[in-house]
Amino acid sequence: MSENKTSLSTLLIHQNGPENSYGAVSQPIILSTTFERDQNGGFPEGRDIYARASNPNRQALEGKLAALENGKSAACFSSGQAATMSIFHALGHGSHVILPDDIYYGTKVLIDNLYQSWGLTCTSVDMTDLAEIEKAIKNETKLIWMETPSNPQLKITDIEGVVQIARKKGILTACDNTWATPYFTSPFDFGVDLIMHSTTKYLSGHSDILGGCIIASENTPEGVFQKVRDFQTLGGAVPSSFDTWLLNRSLATFFVRMPVHASNAVKLAEFFEHHAAIEKVYYPGLATDPGHVIAKKQMKNGFGGMLSVLIKGDEVNTLKVASKLKIFKHATSLGGVESLVDHRRTAEGTHSVSPPNLLRISVGIESIEDLIEDFKQALV
Ligand SMILES: *Cc1c(COP(=O)(O)O)cnc(C)c1O
Repeated sequence: MSENKTSLSTLLIHQNGPENSYGAVSQPIILSTTFERDQNGGFPEGRDIYARASNPNRQALEGKLAALENGKSAACFSSGQAATMSIFHALGHGSHVILPDDIYYGTKVLIDNLYQSWGLTCTSVDMTDLAEIEKAIKNETKLIWMETPSNPQLKITDIEGVVQIARKKGILTACDNTWATPYFTSPFDFGVDLIMHSTTKYLSGHSDILGGCIIASENTPEGVFQKVRDFQTLGGAVPSSFDTWLLNRSLATFFVRMPVHASNAVKLAEFFEHHAAIEKVYYPGLATDPGHVIAKKQMKNGFGGMLSVLIKGDEVNTLKVASKLKIFKHATSLGGVESLVDHRRTAEGTHSVSPPNLLRISVGIESIEDLIEDFKQALV
């Protein structure tokens, strides 16, 4: 364990904010929407004014999330989608965005359904090919959005390569780090401007919180993060005190949960690789995976807890396998301690480009023997 990680895992466990002045070992939840002024009508240093602008639980959480990504500041949102919106909003009217062709479905739909009337346009490219990104750049291109490993095909984008292209043209870069998490990838190490998370997933880890965040580094253009902050506090896209408290509680076990997700995922991927009923395995930890070389270069501590498989046969057969599983729940979302499978074509709906026989798997932290046995009985 590196020195840096040791101190971070300790930081995530302890509560040292002003809300802990009573000496409570578990962080108290501050529900008050407003806070008392001092004799002069002002506020003591660091005191909040009004819950939309700031709240002690949110402040403590933002400090921990910024530290986790080795960033300077973090802004927490009511969902991952609200966090993503704060960046699109910051770009301004008439901007062009480059997106990966394999991407969290909701990110693309946000642009199509909500931002088209703002004149925001996007081009989807295969980001495993840097030349494709260069070709897609226009005069109005303001942002290159990355997601690596991508959803649901676990394509790996060379973050450093993309940043180099973007910097030459003065284009912002953002990385949706929800799947990799800071445990496996640190996008700021490669010069990314903004990191986005759906904290609903691994950071929460228990499928019981909806949330998102944006993290800025020392090098993020100040004006951009200010717009993100404005979207949060003026726009009011803020999480509740309870959700920030619960997420803070989840972070305490982050460094214990993540290695188990990764080691279980490797073993399950290896099991699938040799199973006659499996047509293809998407997992960057496999030496045969097309993204493996770059994943090895930019990921650390393993390759994450997400994988996808193509089941031999048609969609009906794939859904049958999903329904035969007993430990894996057939449900959307990911990143919880419990294992889930998701038929993306069903979840994404009519415009889905996911193969009909693809199952996305969020590998939980149960006993790996149980997980493998469960697929053994479902695949026969
Ligand atoms: C879930 C998810 C989102 C959206 O986050 P919500 O919290 O559901 O709004 C964005 N990106 C990725 C990669 C996700 O998995």
